[in-house]
Amino acid sequence: MTMQQNDMVAGQGIRTGAQYLDGLRDDRDVWISGERVADVTAHPGLNRGAQTLASFLDRQHDPKYQDKTTYVDAEGIRCATSFLVPKSKNDVEQRGVAFYEWARWSNGMFGRTPDYKNSSLMAFAAASGFLGTGQTDFAQNMVNFYDYVRKNDKVLTHTLVNPQISHDLAKEGKYSDKVALHIVKETDAGMIVRGARLLATLGPHADEIEVFPSTLLKASEENIPFAFAFAIPLSTPGLRLICRDSYDHGKSHFDAPLASRFEEMDSVVIFDDVLVPWERVFMYREPLKCNKAFAETNSVVHMMHQVAAAKLAKAEFFVGLLCSIAKATGKDKDMNIRGQIAEAMWTAETVRALLYSAEQQAHEDQWGNFIPLRRPIDTSRNLFPKLYPRLVELVQLLGSSSLMATPCEADFSNEIAGDVEQYFQVQNLDSRDRVALFRLAHDAAISGFGSRQCLYERFFFGPQNIMASGYFELYNKDDMMDRVNELLMS
Ligand SMILES: Cc1cc2nc3c(=O)[nH]c(=O)nc-3n(C[C@H](O)[C@H](O)[C@H](O)COP(=O)(O)OP(=O)(O)OC[C@H]3O[C@@H](n4cnc5c(N)ncnc54)[C@H](O)[C@@H]3O)c2cc1C
Repeated sequence: MTMQQNDMVAGQGIRTGAQYLDGLRDDRDVWISGERVADVTAHPGLNRGAQTLASFLDRQHDPKYQDKTTYVDAEGIRCATSFLVPKSKNDVEQRGVAFYEWARWSNGMFGRTPDYKNSSLMAFAAASGFLGTGQTDFAQNMVNFYDYVRKNDKVLTHTLVNPQISHDLAKEGKYSDKVALHIVKETDAGMIVRGARLLATLGPHADEIEVFPSTLLKASEENIPFAFAFAIPLSTPGLRLICRDSYDHGKSHFDAPLASRFEEMDSVVIFDDVLVPWERVFMYREPLKCNKAFAETNSVVHMMHQVAAAKLAKAEFFVGLLCSIAKATGKDKDMNIRGQIAEAMWTAETVRALLYSAEQQAHEDQWGNFIPLRRPIDTSRNLFPKLYPRLVELVQLLGSSSLMATPCEADFSNEIAGDVEQYFQVQNLDSRDRVALFRLAHDAAISGFGSRQCLYERFFFGPQNIMASGYFELYNKDDMMDRVNELLMS
């Protein structure tokens, strides 16, 4: 594994879509629907997601988007803005603009654009002192890895969660080495790991996988074999991805407007005695350090920032969708319908307010970097998993049977075309436009693709109760409790 493999043009740290797709054609061991995938860029369930991501990478070269999504570093290399280490409030805002721009390209439906992971990596590298040294120079390894990913525009996935075989064990903060990823051996070349991890979204479409501990890793002696952080290429021998079914069923953009474009795929990751070279290890056998890593480096705050910007784009899309549905039939004049859609607007405006508030109150952290204020975007991170299902429900309530009155594109040119043209019209839309709109609504709120989006929003940042408990812990409650006390004592 080399950190120098650099096929980049001088001065360009951003890749073209074609370069990205080329990089995916390697020996990766990806399984889907009972078969090993020979080439993820050619597989019918995976190729269009890869094409979409490639088209997004191409946009970094387009003058229309380049200023918003890239920056030129001190060496004169143009890189993605998500790698920019923020040294001022302006830098934080610049990063927010880039996050929002990337999310707009899919209206938040491609949840795992590379800027999410890039933000985490940037934060770890910019606070590499936290990692220190040990078995190897962990801090330097991280800086090298960041430089490699940044200057080669590599796409990352990550996996943070160990599978559980028993809830009782989980509650005690223990793992079973029958399923959980653990260290089995140490060699001169590196450590050897075995077990499984959940869940690598974008796994088949990524260049590298980060295998980091979650904050759930309890600091105990028995968790030492489960405590580590590393990154390796997806093509590393012994690494296997087992995918869920694809929601891209090969339908046209008309028939499946979202699934035909934004299938980002989730996979369980198996490590069959995988050798991780020391230069790719960032934490080793230190549960306490692992447990604190995302918080202490502020990596979690930078990830929340990307997430809030992306969720704003997604909430705005739902507002647009609901308004379009209401306008199609003239329901937008109905006070009750307006009230329902206003709920979606509140969601968008709540996320916007929280995002801007965090950026406006950006401040320097203990590493000399700027971070958005945590509390507003942590609020957004905790709220959105609860608000998103309601957005989906609003589409279902407003769309009702129209979500089922959805003939396919072919029906507009076959022998039932006359019926379809005649009977699917509504007040403000002819049949074709009405069907197109409701097929979009269906894909957002009913289809396998839409249902997975809902599950993703509920869980991708972690279990809701555990995130909420962490929020409670950090919240400054003393002043408020003092006021209650004052009243009681007066
Ligand atoms: C569509 C989708 C995409 C996802 N993408 C990713 C991804 O790309 N990368 C990634 O890492 N994860 C991803 N996730 C996984 C996500 O992080 C987990 O789903 C989430 O953390 C909940 O974990 P769980 O499903 O295993 O449920 P849980 O059973 O809640 O377990 C979660 C963790 O909590 C611990 N736990 C459970 N109960 C307790 C308790 N009482 N006290 C203390 N600890 C407890 C367990 O040990 C376990 O580690 C994704 C999830 C979904 C649904």
